[in-house]
Amino acid sequence: MIIQLKKNITLKQKEKILNQLEKISIPARPLQTNFKEYIVGIPKTEFDLRQIGNLPGIDDIHRVSDSYKMVSKKWKLHNTVIDLGGNIRIGTDELAIMSGPCAIESESQIESIVEHLLKNNVRIMRGGVYKPRSSPYSFRGLGIEGLKLFYKHCSQNGIKVITEVMQVSQVEKMLDFVDIFQVGARNSQNFNLLDVLGQVDKPVMIKRGISGTIDELLYSAEYVFSSGNEKILLCERGIRTFEKATRNTLDLSAIPVLKEKTHLPVIVDPSHGVGIRKHVPQMALAGVISGADGVIMEIHETPEKAFSDGQQSLYYEQATKLYDELREIKLLSNRFGYS
Ligand code: PEP
Ligand code: MN
Repeated sequence: MIIQLKKNITLKQKEKILNQLEKISIPARPLQTNFKEYIVGIPKTEFDLRQIGNLPGIDDIHRVSDSYKMVSKKWKLHNTVIDLGGNIRIGTDELAIMSGPCAIESESQIESIVEHLLKNNVRIMRGGVYKPRSSPYSFRGLGIEGLKLFYKHCSQNGIKVITEVMQVSQVEKMLDFVDIFQVGARNSQNFNLLDVLGQVDKPVMIKRGISGTIDELLYSAEYVFSSGNEKILLCERGIRTFEKATRNTLDLSAIPVLKEKTHLPVIVDPSHGVGIRKHVPQMALAGVISGADGVIMEIHETPEKAFSDGQQSLYYEQATKLYDELREIKLLSNRFGYS
C-alpha cells in the first residue's frame, strides 16, 4: 500500500496515520523523496482501506500487490519523465539518445565526440572513467580527473553526462560532474551503492545484472526509490545465456515487460547487448520498436584503437545514419502505441 501525503501535512497528522496503521497491524515506513512524501505499508492480510483513507493529510492511497511498490506502474497515473534540464527529458515521445565511447580516453577524444554529437543533435554523452574490466590488467579508466574534463567540455556545449559509478566512496566526489549516474551490470545488486544513490538528487540508470531477472532489476530500482530518489532509469543490456555467437543475449522481450510493470523509463543498450559492431544498429532499432524510451550506444573516433569495447563501437558515419533511423522508428513506435 502506498499512501501519498499532502504537501502541507502536519507532524500530528502523520503520527495519527502511523498510529492507525500500527493499530490495524500494517507495518509501515515513512518515505521522503526528492518529489514527495509517502508512507509505504506492507499489509500481510486483506484490510479495509476506509480504516485509513479518511484520515486528514492524505492525498491519495493505492493498493499495490506487486512485491516492489514504488516503482510499480500500479499506483502512478503517468510514466516518469526524467528532466535533465536544458530542455532534455527522458521518457517522453522523443527518443533519448546517449552516445559516446566505452571509456573516456583523452581530452582530444572528448572534443572530437562532443563535436560529433553536436552535429547530430545528440544531447547526452556516455563514457566511463571508472571501468569494470574482467581482467585487472586492462585499462581501468581515467578516474575523477578524466571525469572533470569530460564534464567541462559537455557542460560548455549543453550536453549531459552519463557515467558509471562503481563504489559508494566515489559518489560524493563525482556528484558535481555527473548528470546521470550509471550503475553497471556487475553492480546491479550492490545494495549499499543503490542505497547511497537513493540519497542524491541526480538521476540513476540501473543496468540489468549479467544474469539478473527482470524482477531483480525492479527490486534494485525499489532500493533507490525507497531511499529517496525517484529519478531512475532502467537499462536492458543483454544477459548471459548459453549462446556464444554474441557477447550477450539482448533480451528484447524485457522491454515491453518492463514497460508494463513499471512507470520508469526503459533504455536499451545494443552495444553490450550484441557486442558486434555490425549488428548494433539493427538491435538498437529493434529495441526502440520494442518500446524503449532511449538508446545508449558506444561510438569511437577510431574503434580499432579503442582502449575498450572497440569491437562493438560504431564509426561516426554509422552512428550518424543510425540516429536518424532511430528517431524515425520512435515516431512509428509512438504511432503504433503498443506501450
Ligand atoms: C559500459 O557501459 O561500458 C559497461 C561496462 O556496461 P555493463 O555494465 O552493461 O557491462
Ligand atoms: Mn563498454
